[in-house]
Amino acid sequence: MLRQQTLKQRVKFSGIGVHSGLASSLTLVPAPQDTGVVFCNASNPEQRFRVGTVIPEVAPHATVIKTNGWYVTTVEHLMAALRMLDVDNVVVEMQGNEVPILDGSALPFVQGILDAGLQEQDAVRRYLTPKEKLRFADEKGRAIEIEPSEHFSISYTADFNHPLAGCTTFSAEIPSEFFIDKIAPARTFGYLEQLPLLRQHKLAQGSSLSNTIVIGQELLNDTRFPDECVRHKVLDLIGDLGLLPYRLLGAVNASKTSHNFNRLVAEHCLQHSELWQEVNL
Ligand SMILES: [Zn+2]
Repeated sequence: MLRQQTLKQRVKFSGIGVHSGLASSLTLVPAPQDTGVVFCNASNPEQRFRVGTVIPEVAPHATVIKTNGWYVTTVEHLMAALRMLDVDNVVVEMQGNEVPILDGSALPFVQGILDAGLQEQDAVRRYLTPKEKLRFADEKGRAIEIEPSEHFSISYTADFNHPLAGCTTFSAEIPSEFFIDKIAPARTFGYLEQLPLLRQHKLAQGSSLSNTIVIGQELLNDTRFPDECVRHKVLDLIGDLGLLPYRLLGAVNASKTSHNFNRLVAEHCLQHSELWQEVNL
């Protein structure tokens, strides 16, 4: 059976928060087996939580976890990298409340983790899959279905309604290598016309062409994939599903979802754990 892993050494990431615009950094610290992914406040180590024990907040435009008088925001790209690279045990020491946006994708996290190296541990890795097909849906046509599986696949349909945002569907089985090459590099995107409103709400304060694909009358930067936007939606979904206690196995079929909807899966797992099962591979 596959065994748990941690990092061989610490690795630090520094940058700015895309929403706060503030400088922030985090250090990934190797951790003993069965620690899980634990976020902690570097200036007050008592403020900490283990991923999968706290229901994510209802919040627009980013994934936020709040507990113990402390919060961490924009965790999704980091969580996608940790889960898809099978970093089971790690402490994320946060300096600041927002995970740095770096280049807007998960690729810098992937490269940093691979450069630090992975260390196998004795304990067996746990995965999660639902016992039976789960379906989350609302009246706006947003939906996520998850079927039990020993693999991880995503079929995603976006509702961009904008010709420059590219293809709206993406479907693939997603083993780690595929994630590293085809999903992790896809960057955050935004519409130029929405920027003033976001900034009024104190969001996107740190967004720039160095971390965001900007869609105006034309695309303001070069893209890494013709369908980079829908790939980024898949990246965000993987990151949000990363807030389950363990890495998810399942066939995921999602439509029009973003962070505020994706969080329902982690909430369901915490509130109805009897409908989920742990799996070893
Ligand atoms: Zn994102």
